[in-house]
Amino acid sequence: MNTTPNNDANAAEPSAAGPNGGGPFGLRGVAVWLPGCLLLSSLAAWAAEDAQFYFAPFLIFPLLVGIGLGAVLVLLMRVGQVGHRPTILLGTLLAALVAVVGQHYFGFLDAQKLERRETAAIEKAKAALPELAARLPPAPAENFCRFMRQQAGRGRSVFNLLEVRGGGAWALWTVEGLLTLAAALGVVIPAMRLPFCKRCRSWYRAARSARFPAAVIRDIAKVLDVETAERIRSGRCRLLNCASGCGPTGCELSWEDLDGNTFFARVWLDPAARNAVAQVFDEAQKK
Ligand SMILES: [Zn+2]
Repeated sequence: MNTTPNNDANAAEPSAAGPNGGGPFGLRGVAVWLPGCLLLSSLAAWAAEDAQFYFAPFLIFPLLVGIGLGAVLVLLMRVGQVGHRPTILLGTLLAALVAVVGQHYFGFLDAQKLERRETAAIEKAKAALPELAARLPPAPAENFCRFMRQQAGRGRSVFNLLEVRGGGAWALWTVEGLLTLAAALGVVIPAMRLPFCKRCRSWYRAARSARFPAAVIRDIAKVLDVETAERIRSGRCRLLNCASGCGPTGCELSWEDLDGNTFFARVWLDPAARNAVAQVFDEAQKK
């Protein structure tokens, strides 16, 4: 068993085979996950379009949108018990696309709303001052594609230094869209790699978790057959179970030595080892 400093996700010698590779394909994934992704990403697009009037730092904003979207997708994935990795990735891809295009679409709807309000006033002004008509901005676009072309033609400023128009504006939108997708994947992929029980189709979650002093960490490490250095400061142990407890129990042990290096080990336990660790938990928490 190798435990190297700062190595997080290093599987130790298992006492029992752990679940891996995500979950099987299921209709629940298609029926719950994909429509849920579309709904949540539409909401994210609507919220992002609203938020950008108040706070929209260049290139950071699309990353924040992606992180927020990724977080709600992970929540949906865990609540909906969707473990099939290709389905999860497909949903994330769709959601990012809807979130990115949706922001522009909600911008278009806003522009239309504004237009309807202003049309009456403008018509009145044009009638009174015919020479004004020539100086007014072009009529707002009546469909989404024309709106996007108009927006691209209007140009976008980059840090107030540079104005990009036409193809440049499209390229910038593409970069922003890819940033949103990358950020969402950055949140979803690590969560998707967590253990999933194929038998009862549920995500593993922490059944017990506690911080322990060095002596207790050494006791647990002995049960797990994990080598630890002598100079441990303290550590944490988590016991992971699937929803119905049908799979093996996962035990995650992390600890810090006196030099500040952190170590991590995950071991899959058979029932005997599980009981032994639970006993250490009970005794340590009794004190
Ligand atoms: Zn299970």
